[in-house]
Amino acid sequence: MVQGAANQNINSNEQWLQNYVDDWVKFYRKHTKEGEVASYIPILQEANQHHLGISIIGNNGVTIESGDVGIPFTIQSISKVFTFIVACMQRGVSYILDRVDVEPTGEAFNSIMHLEMRQVKKPFNPFVNAGAITITSMLNGKTSNEKLNPLLHLFEQILGYRPSLNEEVYESERKTSIRNRAIGYYLLELEYLESDLELTLETYFKQCSIEISINDLATLGMVLANDGEDPKTGLEIIPRQVARLAKSLMLTCGMYNASGKFAAYVGIPAKSGVSGGIVAIAPPRFREGDFPFLEGCGIGVYGPALDKQGNSIAGIRLLRHIAKQWDLSIF
Ligand code: GLN
Repeated sequence: MVQGAANQNINSNEQWLQNYVDDWVKFYRKHTKEGEVASYIPILQEANQHHLGISIIGNNGVTIESGDVGIPFTIQSISKVFTFIVACMQRGVSYILDRVDVEPTGEAFNSIMHLEMRQVKKPFNPFVNAGAITITSMLNGKTSNEKLNPLLHLFEQILGYRPSLNEEVYESERKTSIRNRAIGYYLLELEYLESDLELTLETYFKQCSIEISINDLATLGMVLANDGEDPKTGLEIIPRQVARLAKSLMLTCGMYNASGKFAAYVGIPAKSGVSGGIVAIAPPRFREGDFPFLEGCGIGVYGPALDKQGNSIAGIRLLRHIAKQWDLSIF
């Protein structure tokens, strides 16, 4: 399928790539039996463990999608990439980096331990919950909707529509948020929060409840692959420096405490969420050939059965296979 292709010179191997992806989605579907759907946010448990889907969108408009592509799901931790981007656009990169570090933790995303190590004067990175909640507190706005508006506007610019919140997921997380509240109170004690705690948590739970699809993830990834510029219009949606910084954090911290393994074995920037989504980014390659993704692509994956780190088991296997076979690794 070619969607709004800027470069119409798409070659015949596209059908071959489609068949190839279809075969591998079928092959890796058996791994959806492994792992478990997230249950600490009760409503996420209703997801179908056996779903697996992928969407790959190139900067030239070539789209390949396969498996369970039509399932809406909540963005969860993938939102942290985009609140980080919005905060950097509002406050400036140095303001944000003075207050949230960029180090991988090797600990679970909702760990409190590093906050207790008082020699560290800021949360470890924007993608662990402590860092993400701190970033959310820095967003401009006096209400959660005011804080979220620029994020939703950014999505609207990239996706062409304004995604909505899944109220049920929001309520489910809000009611069962003991650990995130504990992190929030700790951040309050350390004086890291720049907004009222309740307002910050409400905004954080709402940002995690934004509903998207794997095509949306692939489109978001494609714009990041293109350093923040929309390849269809040439408009800069995210400043280049901010897009690049976000990608470097995705590579080092995007897959929770499996980020090192993902960088080593898959080798592309990615960010996962506990509902089973992953956004991954293959930057442009300086290579000859007729492979349609040489100009870079965004990849969205959905597979709600998770490993212990909170990443989609079948989704990672599928991504690893495709990245290897298509030589997408940035290394
Ligand atoms: N809303 C989730 C939480 O904070 C997001 C976590 C995730 O996707 N890893 O617990």
